[in-house]
Amino acid sequence: MSLDNNKSENKYCKCIHKNVNYNKVNITLYDNEKITLVNCELCQEGTKQLNLNNAVICLCGSMFCIDHIKQHSKDNVDQHNVVAYFGRDHNDRFHCLKCENNVQIVDKDIVDINDLIDAYEMFYNTSLPRQLDQSNRVILDQVNVDGIVKYIQSGQCKNIVVLTGAGVSVASGIPDYRSPKTGLYNNLQQFKLPYPEAICDIDYIKIHPELFYTLAKGIFPGQFKPTPVHYFIKLLSDKGLLLRDYTQNIDTLERIAGVPESKLVEAHGSFNGAYCTVCQHRYSDISIIKQHIDSSTIPYCTVGECIGKSSLLLPNIVFYGDSLPPIFNRCLLQDFGVNNNTTPKCDLLIVIGTSLKVNPIASMINFAQHVPRLLINNEAVGCPSTHPSDYTVVSNGFNFNNQQQYNDVHISDDCQKAVKDLIEKLNWTNEFNNLINKSI
Ligand SMILES: [Zn+2]
Ligand SMILES: [Zn+2]
Ligand SMILES: [Zn+2]
Ligand SMILES: [Zn+2]
Repeated sequence: MSLDNNKSENKYCKCIHKNVNYNKVNITLYDNEKITLVNCELCQEGTKQLNLNNAVICLCGSMFCIDHIKQHSKDNVDQHNVVAYFGRDHNDRFHCLKCENNVQIVDKDIVDINDLIDAYEMFYNTSLPRQLDQSNRVILDQVNVDGIVKYIQSGQCKNIVVLTGAGVSVASGIPDYRSPKTGLYNNLQQFKLPYPEAICDIDYIKIHPELFYTLAKGIFPGQFKPTPVHYFIKLLSDKGLLLRDYTQNIDTLERIAGVPESKLVEAHGSFNGAYCTVCQHRYSDISIIKQHIDSSTIPYCTVGECIGKSSLLLPNIVFYGDSLPPIFNRCLLQDFGVNNNTTPKCDLLIVIGTSLKVNPIASMINFAQHVPRLLINNEAVGCPSTHPSDYTVVSNGFNFNNQQQYNDVHISDDCQKAVKDLIEKLNWTNEFNNLINKSI
């Protein structure tokens, strides 16, 4: 290769890096109950705690300490292994170990991984205990619902981020996952699964697609209507107050309520579209799956080399063992990231109907520590825990007890009722009713 000769002239390596795998990098970083770095693959277990200064991730998805990364490269002499260093700026982040040169962020996969690492570093840094920066904080007059209402009415609050979970869709008849009696997992006993989550485990589904499709029939969009909470989010959008709606739900009820796609992050995917698990072809029209669900058959891919083969199709849902979509990272950076010392865009976080048990999304609330945060949920969740077995520790989570320090408000009530009360206090009831009446 002649690359060595002109290395000094080229700032960036032009090699063809082949094993760049967004999904695997995503899973290595995020599929981890706490927001910590996994161990180096070559270190003895527990010998070295990785942090942002000594960790390197190969874009094949393997994590190493800075001392062992060269060994990984030696083991794959034919590959142009591109690795990413943490805690560095973008120009200096990606290196090809074989060419010993920086790699430019141009390929789509590398662009996505670059966003992922930026977002991951934001999660990592905000999960460490820290002092609040008092200089740029928004302080409520009163730390209660009236204070939130006044803040929204003041015109100062323009970029609301909403984070929702299964609780907001229960009222539409969709079972929530974890409720002891009516929850989805509890109703799966008929399938004799090895463990209840198997129904959402991508590897198990590939072997037993009929189980997933039996379940999917019961939750397929079209049978359920949006709830008042979904219309509240649509109303925020109509009023120009919604920066983003992050939902953990796959039921597409936000779309049906009219929340614009540009404002929506379906963090765990949705039934809006499907893909082939073999050739990865994307189908934008879900009807390819719908026909099969109606006739209780399994949908297979109908393009290219998959024709005539049993290449399983699945809806665009993030199952266990899948990665979060690139749009999740991209929007987190836009909404909470700090560029050129500006303050983050989000100026109010409203969390509705989620137990905040699944990371990384649970740790999103750390990003909004400097602005008022409103939790609408029966129970107080997302509070820092010192209990070692509580894996979703949110270090800088809600603090409803220290009102001098935090602007965190908890409405402990049914989320549908609480949202209607909030709408009344905001004097939005007429517009809200009009919105619902138009949709029926
Ligand atoms: Zn190279
Ligand atoms: Zn190591
Ligand atoms: Zn590698
Ligand atoms: Zn295919």
